[in-house]
Amino acid sequence: MNTTSATDLYRGLPAVDELLRSPKVAPLIESHGQPIVAEAIRVVLARLRREISSGNLDANGVTIALEGLHAAVERQLCETLRHSLRPIINATGVILHTNLGRAPLAESAFEHIREIALGYSNLEFDLESGERGKRDGHVDKLFRQLMDKELADRNVRATQAVSTIIVNNNAAAVLLALNTLAEDGEVIVSRGELVEIGGSFRIPDVMAKSKATLREVGTTNRTRAGDYEKAINEKTRLILRVHRSNFEITGFTEQPRLDELAEVAQKHKIPLMEDLGSGALFDLRSIGVSGEPNVFESLRAGVDVVSYSGDKLLGGPQAGILSGRSDLITKMRSNSIFRALRVDKLTYAALEATLLSYVKGDHALIPALRMMHMSKEEIGKRADHFVRQIQAAKLSVEIVDGASLIGGGAAPSATLPTRLIAITHKDLSADEMMMRLRNSDPPIVARVEDGRVLLDLRTVFPEQDEVVANAVTRFN
Ligand SMILES: *Cc1c(COP(=O)(O)O)cnc(C)c1O
Repeated sequence: MNTTSATDLYRGLPAVDELLRSPKVAPLIESHGQPIVAEAIRVVLARLRREISSGNLDANGVTIALEGLHAAVERQLCETLRHSLRPIINATGVILHTNLGRAPLAESAFEHIREIALGYSNLEFDLESGERGKRDGHVDKLFRQLMDKELADRNVRATQAVSTIIVNNNAAAVLLALNTLAEDGEVIVSRGELVEIGGSFRIPDVMAKSKATLREVGTTNRTRAGDYEKAINEKTRLILRVHRSNFEITGFTEQPRLDELAEVAQKHKIPLMEDLGSGALFDLRSIGVSGEPNVFESLRAGVDVVSYSGDKLLGGPQAGILSGRSDLITKMRSNSIFRALRVDKLTYAALEATLLSYVKGDHALIPALRMMHMSKEEIGKRADHFVRQIQAAKLSVEIVDGASLIGGGAAPSATLPTRLIAITHKDLSADEMMMRLRNSDPPIVARVEDGRVLLDLRTVFPEQDEVVANAVTRFN
């Protein structure tokens, strides 16, 4: 029976000053400074007082808590000083996972960020003339180089000058393009493409914000080139094609080919824009995905402007990229909204370095591309090695066939064959195992299916395999 009153228990607690003077706390003050340590002590003592007043701590409990006081202050300090944004291990097999930060950057992109971020740069300074330069020049040149290379590879001549500008993300790119090209006018869009992308990006809403009027044509499942043509009137400013990123229409469907649409647009002298979303700069057939145009193919088919993300299939930093007819891009650049959507030097640095990997033709330097090109056999070998590392009596582990997801608005059903590590535990449910994985350091995110935890090593960096295996072994 507890006979000590709460008041007496409060009195047993040390004062903040007293703790700050204690020799055990001195090293903490030395490394972190007095104010932050004092605050941690206050938080810990306040928690103890709350525990006492709610009757959770008796005299005995208080004695134990006081013995662990120093450790509690240290834990509190760690919590305060820890970053909220933390690296995690992605074992989901979803390569471009918006919740997990989409594309991991290439080493070269990070190195370039580092050298540009830590000092001054020629972001808007022309070193030749010594005068003010344009920040978008750094990337514009590279994209043109890539386009020229692509055209030369295919033995076709450039039909128009192509320019590129960068904004904060693809949603911003669509807003800028619509406002520049179609303010107070009409934009023709197929009913089958009025999409909502995750995070409440809805084409009709963006259209309204850009002060353009949406002119819907066709039906949900079928739209023909003729439907677009019939809708053209004196108010029409733009024809917009939107990638269906996160869903598919199957069955009785029809969508005009890009070149058919381009023909209609050219005949009526109306620009054709395509919101590509994922915007690959490589041939997706190389990873077994067909029917997905890349940026160059769209432009070659006669699309005047394409918009796409920097951190989806391109494998770079978050950015919205607009590439296309120079006269249209120039208009967008002089729109005052462009200034509000512009990106900083870090984004330019990362994007430039990523695009340079494409110029060099070295896709393996870009982690997302490396993961996409990884074969099922290669992943299977790593999975075999992984399973041999795990020794835990209560675990049952097997390797099964499965599918990795490209994610990030590539073809929604675009999957890549993989080998999955499937785990069950005698005493722990799949959800309990998932929680333990999330609580490991670094946290690990995986998938659950049919009561099993599934690990896909495609999205795990090889040097992280061992960390994941150790976390699984600790389930025991
Ligand atoms: C992903 C996507 C967007 C949004 O791009 P963010 O870079 O995330 O702003 C817009 N349109 C399509 C078709 C997309 O797939």
